Amino acid sequence: MPFPKLEAKKFASIRELNGISARTMEEHYELYKGYVGKTNEIQEKLNAADRASANQIYSELRGLRVDLSFAIGGVKNHEVYFGHLGGNGGKPGGKVLELISRDFPSYDAWLADFKASGLAARGWVWLAYDRDWNTLTTAVGDAQNTFPVWNAAPILALDVYEHAYWIDYGRARAKYIEAFFNNLDWNVVEQNLERALTMQAVHR
Ligand code: FE
Repeated sequence: MPFPKLEAKKFASIRELNGISARTMEEHYELYKGYVGKTNEIQEKLNAADRASANQIYSELRGLRVDLSFAIGGVKNHEVYFGHLGGNGGKPGGKVLELISRDFPSYDAWLADFKASGLAARGWVWLAYDRDWNTLTTAVGDAQNTFPVWNAAPILALDVYEHAYWIDYGRARAKYIEAFFNNLDWNVVEQNLERALTMQAVHR
């Protein structure tokens, strides 16, 4: 089964940001490169894995399949995250503001819930566009591969793993979440939404 070998993308946000240190961003980028490398390694091993011994309790195939989803999640989540950092924060405009205002009680209510969800999650908070139900939705994740549902595209991804903020803020995660929004490039979020909107629903 051929699979295109992934390469780590470059991001302009890997530098000192407003309230997030260069050290944090550089260390974080190294973690991302690790996900890229492991995705390639697991894909290669999958090609040669023994299907005859497949077993739900433990088997080589099971281990590879489960950990592949973790590795790919680590690649995709961080590409959204690094891709939309490096901006000046503020408030969104365009379609993003229009749909947040349409699909949540208000922009402020959405933001308050999103920040609180960042304290309730162990890994990620996403704002995603659900292409089956044509609505924006907020989802939390405790790992790279939990708990999104099918056919929703993340347009905004907030990493709340400790590695994203511990060097700069210790356990004060709420301060990091403020810094995240101060560096968010809403134009990139808008582009992510435009891409999600042009794709078709598959279930309806
Ligand atoms: Fe991370």
